[in-house]
Amino acid sequence: MTDLLDVPAYLEHALAGLTDVEHFEPAVGGLLAAAQGLLGAESSYLLRRDGVHLLLIASEALPEPPAREVLIIDAGPEGRAASSGMAIIDRASASPFAPRPDLALAAVPIRLRGSIVGVLVATRPGLFVPSELRWLRILAQIAGVAMENAQLLRNERRRARYGETAAALGTIERVDAGPFCQRMAEVINEVMGADRTDVLLHRSALPLESGQANLPERAELMRLGRAPGGRDDASGRQDLDRLDLAAGGALAASYALGVPYRRRDVAQNSKAPEALRAMGMRSILAVPIPGDERPQGLLVVASRRPGAFNAEDASFLRLVAERVALLLRHAQVERERARTAARQEFLTIVSHELKTPVTVIKAYGEVLGRRAEIGGWPGQDRRIADRIQEQADKMLVMIEQLLDLRRLEAGMLTIELSRFDLGAVLRRAVESIQATTENHQLTADVPEELVVRADRRRIEEVVTNLLENAVKYSPGGGPIETTARLDADHVHLVIADAGIGIAIEDLERIFDRFYQVGAGTFSEGHLGLGLGLYIAQEIVDRHGGRIWAESTPGQGATFHVELPIDQPHD
Ligand code: ADP
Repeated sequence: MTDLLDVPAYLEHALAGLTDVEHFEPAVGGLLAAAQGLLGAESSYLLRRDGVHLLLIASEALPEPPAREVLIIDAGPEGRAASSGMAIIDRASASPFAPRPDLALAAVPIRLRGSIVGVLVATRPGLFVPSELRWLRILAQIAGVAMENAQLLRNERRRARYGETAAALGTIERVDAGPFCQRMAEVINEVMGADRTDVLLHRSALPLESGQANLPERAELMRLGRAPGGRDDASGRQDLDRLDLAAGGALAASYALGVPYRRRDVAQNSKAPEALRAMGMRSILAVPIPGDERPQGLLVVASRRPGAFNAEDASFLRLVAERVALLLRHAQVERERARTAARQEFLTIVSHELKTPVTVIKAYGEVLGRRAEIGGWPGQDRRIADRIQEQADKMLVMIEQLLDLRRLEAGMLTIELSRFDLGAVLRRAVESIQATTENHQLTADVPEELVVRADRRRIEEVVTNLLENAVKYSPGGGPIETTARLDADHVHLVIADAGIGIAIEDLERIFDRFYQVGAGTFSEGHLGLGLGLYIAQEIVDRHGGRIWAESTPGQGATFHVELPIDQPHD
């Protein structure tokens, strides 16, 4: 069959492929046909090396080779050619690609800049001789260049596509995490040519639904986006809609360590994610979505093709993960802003709608109280009038706290500085709180004069709040001691009670907004919003001071305030 006169035609055909990088497949077809023509071969095929595997990428053979890929380490003559870099002549029956006992086989490694990137193989009935391998070597060189060109073109195209995608991600509507992650999954799946993409987020990265705030935080990722849509081909149990981090596994480890996970073929890998294996996925790439302290989630792409994702795909997905992280954070900020606006509106309504009627109730209570006194009403009726006033006062305090919260959140809580005697303020506050209780003995150990420059009204508010708490949280009565000392450039103020005290784990948190120890036990005498200490701390902060608490539970609590006597800047 070999007609030496036809040799240039074969080569011409093979070389034509080199210039036509757009059409890699026909070019390779030409190469294989040339190999058959030059060597009188019956079939020929081209294998690409991928790590320790050989993948069949083109063949001119009848029947089709039974295998598409093998491990180099246990491959036949092709594998030996790829790992030794030498041309091999052998029996085709030793080949996993063309196991025909009646054929001979010649395999030549394809080299590119010193490394072996594949193998070109020809088979025919009669044994090959070493001199015949010359043509196969020439064709192998051509194949190497053609393979590289095709790879370059693919990379170039992918890079362009990835660039466009990275830009397009920014335009996805992102306020709602659900639709955002769904859209993300679709885009990634398409651009990476994957068979499946999952976007998983940690619970802490999810927007809190109302009522969810107090749920114990579970260590799991939840799927918010997936592509393609529809039902899974695996059973629901093996689906990836939740990823239990405590259960371990490759994906959980990738999330926990914050490092990508890439496997070129998981068919035989029992440690790989079972859910994806069950769906027939062969290659997997997972990349954590970065977060502040720990990742916010995981992007997982998978393909039925082995070796579908290379290092470049991994860097692209990392880039996407960083964009996703940024967008999620923006979304969180936007949600927080929307929530604050809604709360502001609520607070405005509550405080305005409530303040007037409660003030009216208080006024009527006072009128009633006076009438009771003048009219000599029975003691029981007089107590009712007193109770109305007391409760109205408590409600007014709470309304004021809500108004303060609104001012704080809107950045409108201003500090108005003036010079005044803090000692006098303390003594007066202690006196007026003493007037509300008979069970408690309030004392004030403060210097005769203690001049500071601060916001008088606000500091009075802080002191009153601390004294009221001291009374409120020592229901059995007892001493409440207020002391103040000048200490270099600041005043150290201490208010100590002998009440129920505060558990260690609550000491820091009592200054949080709306925090109340044992919240929910809204019993009489403990009426409050959990805002007093939060507002007190904000006020003290704005004066450049410090507030903290100490306590031995069961024996009382001591609150400390450190306040600079002057403000460096107003
Ligand atoms: P509230 O309106 O509930 O009093 P605060 O912000 O003033 O809100 O206080 C927050 C929580 O701190 C209270 O609910 C209470 O559990 C605790 N607390 C405050 N002061 C004392 C105290 N002197 N002794 C014990 N617990 C206190």
